[in-house]
Amino acid sequence: MGMTLTQKILARHAGQESCRQGDLIEASLDLLLGNDITTPPAIDVFYQAGFEKVFDTAKIALVPDHFAPNKDIKSAEQCKKMRQFAKDQKIVHYFEQGREDMGVEHVILPDNGLVLPGDCIIGADSHTCTYGALGAFSTGVGSTDLACAMAAGTTWFRVPSAIRVELKGKLPRYCSGKDVILYLIGKIGVDGALYRSLEFSGEGVAELSMTDRLTICNMAIECGAKNGIFPVDEKTIAYLKEHVKGEFTIPEDLQADADADYDETVTIDLSELSPMVSFPHLPSNTHAVGTFDRVDIDQVVIGSCTNGRIEDMRKAAAVLRGRQVADGIRAIVLPGSQRVYKQCLEEGLLSIFIDAGCVVSAPTCGPCLGGHMGVLAKGERCVSTTNRNFVGRMGHKESEVYLAGVEVAAASAVMGYIASPEELAPIS
Ligand code: SF4
Repeated sequence: MGMTLTQKILARHAGQESCRQGDLIEASLDLLLGNDITTPPAIDVFYQAGFEKVFDTAKIALVPDHFAPNKDIKSAEQCKKMRQFAKDQKIVHYFEQGREDMGVEHVILPDNGLVLPGDCIIGADSHTCTYGALGAFSTGVGSTDLACAMAAGTTWFRVPSAIRVELKGKLPRYCSGKDVILYLIGKIGVDGALYRSLEFSGEGVAELSMTDRLTICNMAIECGAKNGIFPVDEKTIAYLKEHVKGEFTIPEDLQADADADYDETVTIDLSELSPMVSFPHLPSNTHAVGTFDRVDIDQVVIGSCTNGRIEDMRKAAAVLRGRQVADGIRAIVLPGSQRVYKQCLEEGLLSIFIDAGCVVSAPTCGPCLGGHMGVLAKGERCVSTTNRNFVGRMGHKESEVYLAGVEVAAASAVMGYIASPEELAPIS
């Protein structure tokens, strides 16, 4: 029996010819990630365990993005601790606020060319699974695992089995990768892929942009998946050429074996999808826009590691151009990185957002986890392009988060209720 793509990557990093579902392996790591919430406890464990030096100063990325720019004294102390560790350990990829390469972690690591196909990556953040879009194995771990891996350069995994997600057809207008993953999570449930890989394949893959693929893999964890992963194709290589500094190589035979063993196959015809919304309080509580009664809202958030890339900003701007955010609605736009922010500036998108009546924030996680820059009050409803709508995720435990793609979020900001862009009146 052959190996899935994930199993093939894990076997190589364990120095083995092969591995099977359920095997315990120790794998070498190509990149480790920590942020301002998860790195400080990892630093404590690192030194308490008696470690003195990280295994490789160029294979660790530290990103102060969650509560940064510092929202209060505690977050300032967290960031200070991480900054000092990065300095003491001579960490190459420490990303300081405001610098050109800075932003939300899962936007900037691929964007700065730190992710390569076939890599084995861990991050002390559950959405580390994002990098599967580039054909890497990447998954979230806890701070203690990060601490030990920063010293050893390896970590252990139980080799997952996999679900094959067969994509066919082409996305209709106003549908994106967000609708693909919301649809899938709605179909299989929040534990539908528990500790399994989601391996995407089929002719429909070629129809998805890299932004779509990053969004899809970002939310693999929302159905419990260990990782999500796409095959490497021409679009992946074009993305790498644009983002990786210098030469790069792609491992040979980086594909699932023809006789790989999958637990099941889920087929999605992209052409049959329509814009989706996940109602409170689970990402699996999905409904197609237009199939539910009017839901009035108070706030819209467009951004995050799920939908904060330039393609997302362009789509939002295309909806908001020449229109106004409805009375009584706050619309907050968070470009996912400084580079995206600058592109928005150069392309005139910031003017569109500001003229429409949006707040435009510095790149930060901010409201996505109820940190700052848009925390919800009791009873408030928000349409958000982020990835989680659990109770209290963006503020008060009696607030509500509706997950959607960028165009639905922007249209909802204009209408004041959850809406499809098709409902908007033409611009006069
Ligand atoms: Fe986590 Fe949200 Fe930040 Fe993404 S944007 S890393 S989901 S807090």
